[in-house]
Amino acid sequence: MSERAGPYNQPQTMCPAFGSLRVGLRMRRTATVAVGSACCVYGLSFTGHFYGARRSIGYVPFDSESLVTGGLFEDVHQAVYELADPQHYDAIVVVNLCVPSASGVPLRLLPESINGVRVLPIDVPGFAVTTHAEAKDKLAAAMLKYARAEAESGPVKAPRSGRSQMPVVTLLGEMFPGDAVSIGRMLEPMGLAVGQVVPTREWRELYAALDCRVAAAIHPHYTATIAELEAAGRSAVPSAPVGREGTEAWLEAVGSACGVSSEAIEAAKAAALPAVEKAIAAAPIKGKVTISGYEGSELLVARLLVECGAEVCSVNTALPHTPWSEPDRKWLEDLGIQVRFRATLKDESAAIDRHKPDLAIGTTPLAQRAKERAIPGLYFTNLISARPLMGTAGPGSLAHVINAAIGYKERCNIMNDFFSGVGQGSTAGIWPQIPHAPSAHVNPAASLAAEETGKGEGN
Ligand code: SF4
Repeated sequence: MSERAGPYNQPQTMCPAFGSLRVGLRMRRTATVAVGSACCVYGLSFTGHFYGARRSIGYVPFDSESLVTGGLFEDVHQAVYELADPQHYDAIVVVNLCVPSASGVPLRLLPESINGVRVLPIDVPGFAVTTHAEAKDKLAAAMLKYARAEAESGPVKAPRSGRSQMPVVTLLGEMFPGDAVSIGRMLEPMGLAVGQVVPTREWRELYAALDCRVAAAIHPHYTATIAELEAAGRSAVPSAPVGREGTEAWLEAVGSACGVSSEAIEAAKAAALPAVEKAIAAAPIKGKVTISGYEGSELLVARLLVECGAEVCSVNTALPHTPWSEPDRKWLEDLGIQVRFRATLKDESAAIDRHKPDLAIGTTPLAQRAKERAIPGLYFTNLISARPLMGTAGPGSLAHVINAAIGYKERCNIMNDFFSGVGQGSTAGIWPQIPHAPSAHVNPAASLAAEETGKGEGN
């Protein structure tokens, strides 16, 4: 763990509430209402639509008076009542942002349901929920808790796809859609099937998610969600079927958690591992790589890259260490690879400077810093975590994008030479002294500054 200089030396992440909003916006028949400052909601709405939200985000504005008099709570109450039409919605998610959360606006006092529409208020202030990935867990857990109470009190709907005839494994964490299919194929020899992926895409899928034999913590930060599953009597297994060693360990863990015979576990391994080995052999990666991100799959990506031959120097994640990231941490650290949880941009930049990799994978500012040093950089969220990782599809998918990026080194050198000096010194937009104007033309900024100080260029 890194030393913390102060409260703002936190992992870099977009507004954490985005995670909750994204979960709500991707669910059918679910309305999402944000309660917070207009500038926050503008940014969240922009990002939500950039990432393909298909419906509007509700917003309840406030001012100082409505915040302190309780008027804001009344306004939220009214907005939720007006939205609660069971013809259109199963649930309304109300996301409390920083200012109303800090001011204690008591959204928990909203009714649990209105006209049969479930109301789920959650507080997701940036000062308490560290990353947007953990905010996804927060809403997923709130939904599971609600759904569990419903399932315990009477019959509930089956998912649209129907109930599986085989015992199922619920998968935790957003993943490439093909990964769930790959995992399903690997489970078949053990008489198991893939169940729901949490966060789910529809309310009725929550009941099926709870009705699993075991949950697979593919993304290890879903701790609140796992607590809800445990309350429903389900256990979770860590890690994921990535690479040969990861797949072998994961099949053994799932098989034994589900009480599958050792013969069936061996059959599953025999069916999956040779093909994974072949896929790895066909996808060699040569080069030194540093990895960082805030999605929760950083350690899994690192494992796969190592098995494909990459020299992974360090792995930084904005997420915390949990029991479900432990096998991956141990596997990487046993190879001498430094793993840092709750890493900051400062930690990630230091890793680049220390290791001078052929490729830096990380957040947008990290990829930018790498490129400033003529090191190819890739944005983890859009270019790595949105690709298949599991089973036979993972190695080829990653090797394709990683090898192409490593090959950009020469282009980075050319660009670095071309842009040399741009954004530095007087071109950074911050002038500690009046910049020297080029003689060929008048520099308006310098002229203005000179006028303001009463010094003409001839003085
Ligand atoms: S102030 Fe809080 S709610 Fe607003 S953008 Fe920042 S973290 Fe998000």
